[in-house]
Amino acid sequence: MAFDIEMIKKVYEDMPARVDKARELVGRPLTLSEKILYAHLWEGMPSQKFERSKDYVDFAPDRVACQDATAQMALLQFMHAGKEQSAVPTTVHCDHLIQAKVGAEQDLAVANSQSKEVFDFLSSVTNKYGIGFWKPGSGIIHQILLENYAFPGGLMIGTDSHTVNAGGLGMLAIGVGGADAVDVMSGMAWELKFPKLIGVKLTGKLNGWTAPKDVILRVADILTVKGGTGAIVEYFGEGALSMSATGKGTICNMGAEIGATTSTFGYDDSMRRYLNATGRAEVVVAADKVADYLTADPEVYTNPEQYFDELIEINLSELEPYINGPFTPDRGTPVSKMKEEAAKNDWPIKVEWGLIGSCTNSSYEDMSRAVSIVNQAVELGITPKAEFGINPGSEQIRFTIERDGIIAAFEKMGTKVFTNACGPCIGQWDRAGADKQEKNTIVHSFNRNFSKRADGNPNTHAFVTSPEMVAALAISGRLDFNPITDTLINDNGEEVKFKPPFGDELPKKGFDVDDPGFQAPAEDGSKIEVIVSPTSQRLQLLEPFKPWDGKNITGAKLLIKAFGKCTTDHISMAGPWLRFRGHLDNISNNMLIGAENAFNHKTNWVKNELTGEYGEVPAVQRAYKAAGVPTIVVGDQNYGEGSSREHAAMEPRHLGVKAVLVKSFARIHETNLKKQGMLALTFANEADYDKIQEDDTINFLDLVEFAPAKPLTLEFVHSDGSKDIILANHTYNDQQIEWFKAGSALNLIAAG
Ligand code: SF4
Repeated sequence: MAFDIEMIKKVYEDMPARVDKARELVGRPLTLSEKILYAHLWEGMPSQKFERSKDYVDFAPDRVACQDATAQMALLQFMHAGKEQSAVPTTVHCDHLIQAKVGAEQDLAVANSQSKEVFDFLSSVTNKYGIGFWKPGSGIIHQILLENYAFPGGLMIGTDSHTVNAGGLGMLAIGVGGADAVDVMSGMAWELKFPKLIGVKLTGKLNGWTAPKDVILRVADILTVKGGTGAIVEYFGEGALSMSATGKGTICNMGAEIGATTSTFGYDDSMRRYLNATGRAEVVVAADKVADYLTADPEVYTNPEQYFDELIEINLSELEPYINGPFTPDRGTPVSKMKEEAAKNDWPIKVEWGLIGSCTNSSYEDMSRAVSIVNQAVELGITPKAEFGINPGSEQIRFTIERDGIIAAFEKMGTKVFTNACGPCIGQWDRAGADKQEKNTIVHSFNRNFSKRADGNPNTHAFVTSPEMVAALAISGRLDFNPITDTLINDNGEEVKFKPPFGDELPKKGFDVDDPGFQAPAEDGSKIEVIVSPTSQRLQLLEPFKPWDGKNITGAKLLIKAFGKCTTDHISMAGPWLRFRGHLDNISNNMLIGAENAFNHKTNWVKNELTGEYGEVPAVQRAYKAAGVPTIVVGDQNYGEGSSREHAAMEPRHLGVKAVLVKSFARIHETNLKKQGMLALTFANEADYDKIQEDDTINFLDLVEFAPAKPLTLEFVHSDGSKDIILANHTYNDQQIEWFKAGSALNLIAAG
């Protein structure tokens, strides 16, 4: 559980000289984000300035964090890096695979039995490689990171999009794919396009019913779900200073909902208070020594329009509570407009469920403010009209709020306390009656509200709001209830009104926990055996991919010419396939099943050139593999856009596809293909895409001369005997060509 104070001190020791050098190179005052980025360059001391939104830069993150769903393939790959330990402090958190149904105790027991093999694997592999393991029930990755590991000025990557939550403690924390995590754990650099910067100036002070959640709900309303793409959002101003660190965490958490790379705040007293309360006084002492480097230069805050690419100003004193949704987190409605909006859009008014917690809003402050509304309801004699559920973010939070009577107060109203895990936030909610698919409304304090996300019912209208507003709306049973102005009728028929919520930022008696659920890794893991059953359907140890044989690829067949959009979802579908994320052979049965075949415009229906018959893509590819026939995949523009999921590159590699030739790549997918030892190629002339025919046989003419900046020549022999010579560009540098030759980047690391 140790938070690695020596690593943190080293970051602070290096930071001043690096930031000063960066300021000199850039030639102007620096924002906080720039300071953190320049202090974490892979090369150490900065030697050049970087252009935002343009330059790709190698960084050296301080930490890695993985959740149980994404950690499986990441760690299976890491096992091939040939390392004794992860190169940087790393933790794994079991939170996504636990269903919410009856209540914490029973639900956790079911998950421990259903996902036993996955948890056993994660427990043993982390133990072996010096990785901290947070057991099922310990809590949600981002709450645990905030409570234990986040620190001002740090750089962290995590295999979950809400890793950004740690910005609440002044970090740059960024969600990545498993392949990136494996690189960093293996001691390699991590690459990111230098982000642009959005400044959010917060003036005034939150008051009454408004909470930090309303800041990000308003920002999402302004910027929309795409508005933060490629940007870091940096919050500052008197309003920021007046907010709790956990409130800042909520704001940063939902930065993922506007597509931002990450969000952050400058180091301030709220962070000192939180670090001290969570047992990290040593971090405060160390951070205070470099405090000027943990916030932007003063000129940035006086003239922000000169330093940010975009600037937003929000006056917290005037901000209303927001209720965002349904179906998208950027559809913002201030509480005063909800009556009108709900009626206009025919949203179901009756609130069926109120859900509080998740990684977004699980702080002591959140819980105590929400329970202040619950307690008022009891005093005012109001029986809640909707059902209530809570997902505490960590065992530390759960234990502390139980000690302080908060859970008892919730339970008095019939609230279900689910496991300290994601549960309803990720569709792991076995909600009674959801299969009837009735149109209904729920309100929650989570971050995402896409269709089906909570309970699988496409007709559930989920609205995102602050925990105190969830409490008020669920008690009233109405989506259009405005607690600021409206009254309720209590059980005695009297008209009553809520007072604004109130609560403690931090527990007066301090945080407490009996068993936090942490397993420290073994000092020497060399003798530890990683547990994977050879008959498992969910986990499979990886075999290293074979190195290149040094010859031109000849006699290859076309597996599929994909037409139009082909995202990582088309290449490796999610949904029911999620359970096979740790089993490469099983998940490969979804390879390219969503891609549209350019010759018949059907999905998952391609010609097997060996038999002349049509079949499903994975089955046809397996037939080619069995016959020892190499294949290539051809694609259209922006092939592989979407998530950074490495499975989309590993599956074709596993099944024997040699090359992917497209009009253009989504960059992350292109890199993933390279890392897995595939050939990622683009048409030198896009119009050549049209020359490719279904029955072609493909020969590489000069792969033996594979070199940076030198196009490869491919011969396409058509069924009538005619030929087309097609030039294929690539972006491989010398090192990446070595990855290809070795069979994969990890093979090369292991060999070194
Ligand atoms: Fe993701 Fe929800 Fe879990 Fe947070 S609580 S990590 S948003 S699934």
